[in-house]
This record gives sequence, structure tokens and C-alpha cells, in this order.
Amino acid sequence: LLEIQGLRKQFGPVEVLKGVDCTVGEGEVVSIIGSSGSGKTTLLRCINMLEDFQAGSIRLDGEEIGYELVGDKRRRKAEREIARQRALTGMAFQQFNLFPHLTALGNVMLGLIKVKKMGTDEARALALGWLDRVGLSARAEHYPGQLSGGQQQRVAIARAIAMTPKLMLFDEVTSALDPELVGEVLQVIKGLAQDGMTMILVTHEMRFAYEVSTRVIFMNQGVIGEQGDPRDMFRQPRTERLAEFLKTSS
Ligand code: ATP
Repeated sequence: LLEIQGLRKQFGPVEVLKGVDCTVGEGEVVSIIGSSGSGKTTLLRCINMLEDFQAGSIRLDGEEIGYELVGDKRRRKAEREIARQRALTGMAFQQFNLFPHLTALGNVMLGLIKVKKMGTDEARALALGWLDRVGLSARAEHYPGQLSGGQQQRVAIARAIAMTPKLMLFDEVTSALDPELVGEVLQVIKGLAQDGMTMILVTHEMRFAYEVSTRVIFMNQGVIGEQGDPRDMFRQPRTERLAEFLKTSS
């Protein structure tokens, strides 16, 4: 589904991604782990063009994301096209980014109406279905300010998946939550994984990465340091770097 080749990303003079190659197949659940600053979030943000990148290619379902070759020049695609491609992926963030003036239901309905051009009734029915899916049908008419962090994050996830993306990206979605609220969000993600949704998660929850992932990618200083089956990687890291990282993060 996703093919990344030779991905390089700089912020000014600082090279953050130094040639990342990886593929993600349909139905895979891939966790990205690694120390702070290793480029995990940046990698996710490149996949949906929230960040430009300087070299390499990202293909999603056969489509070249973000850039095209004109002659031998690499050129950023038109904004409209990038917006369309961005909608092929859904993203949930550490900060939930809900619209505070809209109810939970309103937040989930908005994209269905504005982007998918659905009628209000259809959007409402679908949105209620997704809120139910994340265990929040009783909170549909609540505003974000009236919801706990865990509930807000579940609304944000419902809002993203309601758009039926081909790929879901989760960027440290439990990092801003009080510990007692982490479980309910992980439970929702686990359910989606079991339903076969293709997803990439940046996470600091090693236990969760171990339990839910079909594959783990360990990012180290802008490249993939190691990747594989979580059972193998967590039990027998092949590199000293990963062994060190696991020691300090469990
Ligand atoms: P963390 O676990 O702390 O979130 P990460 O592995 O996700 O870390 P990134 O957020 O991808 O790391 O950041 C990688 C590097 O890029 C860091 O050194 C960071 O300071 C730098 N960086 C990220 N975003 C920007 C930006 N907009 N401008 C300049 N530098 C940036």
C-alpha cells in the first residue's frame, strides 16, 4: 500500500531523515519507536505532506505523493492535488485538534459535509455510527470542553476514520493523556487494527507496540535502525542501539 524510497528531509541545514526506505502492506499495523528527535513524527508528516521533503519518493496505493517529475526536475504538485492526496490518509495527533465550538458529532460530521459533500442526514448517521464505534454515542452532543482528554482523542480518531482513509497515521496519540485515560484510546486503536485497518503509529507505549503491531520500525538518527516482528525485536534486538533504547524506555 505504501512504498517509501530514499526519503530525505531537512529543516534548514539539519538533515532529520537521511534516506528512509520502507513499505507497508494492506492491513499491516506498523509501530515506529525510537528516541526523541530520531525523526518519527517527521516521517509521518511527510507521508501526508504536512512536511515537504527534499528527496526520495512516497507512493500510496500506486500514487506518487506530493511531487512529480517535469522533465528531469522534481516539482511539488499543485495544492489542490496535494489536498486530495492528503485525504487518502487520516491522521490523529498528540493534541486532539478538535474544533471547540462544535459538538463531538459536529466535529465528525464536518469533513463528511465539507470534503465528502454528503448531505446532513447522511453525514449525521455515519458520524453517529463512528462515535458509537469509539464508544461515545452518549457524548455526541457534548462539546470538546465537556469531554475528558481520552474522550476527545476518541472523537478525533472517529473524525479521521469517518473519512475512510486508506491509511491511518497515529502520532503519539496517548502522550498528552493522563495515565488512566491511555487505555481507552489504545483499546479503540486495537479494535481498528483487528478490523484490518492499515495503520502506522508513532508511540512511546512499548507494551502496546508489542501487542498490536505486525511490525515495529526502530528509528535511529534519521534512518531505520532495525525493523521486524515485535516479538523478535523486543526479545532479541540485533543492534546495540535498540537494546539500549529498550532498556531506557520500558
Ligand atoms: P519525539 O519522540 O520527541 O516526538 P521524533 O522522533 O518524533 O521525536 P521529530 O519530531 O521528527 O522527532 O523531530 C526530529 C528532529 O527534527 C528534531 O531534532 C527536531 O528538533 C527537528 N524538527 C522537527 N520539526 C522541526 C521544524 N518544524 N523546524 C525545525 N526543526 C524541526
